[in-house]
Amino acid sequence: TFLLDSRLLQILGRGLMVLALLSFVLGNLLVWRMLRRELELSRLRSDFIDLISHELRTPLTALSLKAEMLAHGEVRPDKVADYQRGLKAEVDRLALLVGEILDFARLEKGRTPLERREVPTRAVLARGLEEARPALRLSKQRVHVEASRDLPSLDVDMDLLARALRNLLENASKYAPEGSEIRLGAELCDSGLRLTVCDEGPGIPRQDRDRIFEPFIRGDNALGKPGSGLGLALVRQAVEAHGGRIRVEDGSPHGARFSITLPLGDAA
Ligand code: ADP
Repeated sequence: TFLLDSRLLQILGRGLMVLALLSFVLGNLLVWRMLRRELELSRLRSDFIDLISHELRTPLTALSLKAEMLAHGEVRPDKVADYQRGLKAEVDRLALLVGEILDFARLEKGRTPLERREVPTRAVLARGLEEARPALRLSKQRVHVEASRDLPSLDVDMDLLARALRNLLENASKYAPEGSEIRLGAELCDSGLRLTVCDEGPGIPRQDRDRIFEPFIRGDNALGKPGSGLGLALVRQAVEAHGGRIRVEDGSPHGARFSITLPLGDAA
């Protein structure tokens, strides 16, 4: 028994050493990964500040120039209406961007409390669609809505959810070709209610499907297109605040298909 005990102790000792070694290696790996993530985040943040400064400063300079020309009567009378329309479009775009930045700042600070109320599902779709209408009109895109009349009401924060739909629709409008069709759908599914936005654009490459929901991340197809890389992060935040999930897959026959699933507990 003594021999056996000492062999047992030896085996135990080796086991413990291996365990200690393993936890040392794993611990270091974990710290290294956390450090890398922090570095990546701070790099993204400073890129973001550069991007935002550029996104805000460029249109502000143009706005101030145009407003000055209008004020001093330096615009040909037949061009005044064009200038005014241009000013309005720029101001709207800036307001949207500032709104996204503020929402994001709130998101960073912690969850905003939801202001839930009971609303028909179709009303949420209609509101999201209404808000995205200017972008859709500009790109001459039609939205085909597929939602049956007997869908349950939702106990949700209407503003937040409609804005999420608006974001998805505006992205579909931005990344899919002019004149293409966009589909907005709502249906019951096993895990609750599913809202979908499908487009006929380039779709999202498989390897980017998780990343695009991270703040500041923009894809290669976003080059030259306005945006802050915050839209989908805000959509995910809004959906998760409702206990839901969002994912993106291939559209059919092509394009992107974003689907939001809200638990039935949120359906009144
Ligand atoms: P932004 O549009 O401001 O770049 P988002 O967070 O809304 O930021 O989207 C992140 C990235 O996901 C975009 O830069 C783009 O590359 C990609 N993306 C989003 N929606 C679509 C879509 N419907 N089709 C193709 N790519 C998309």
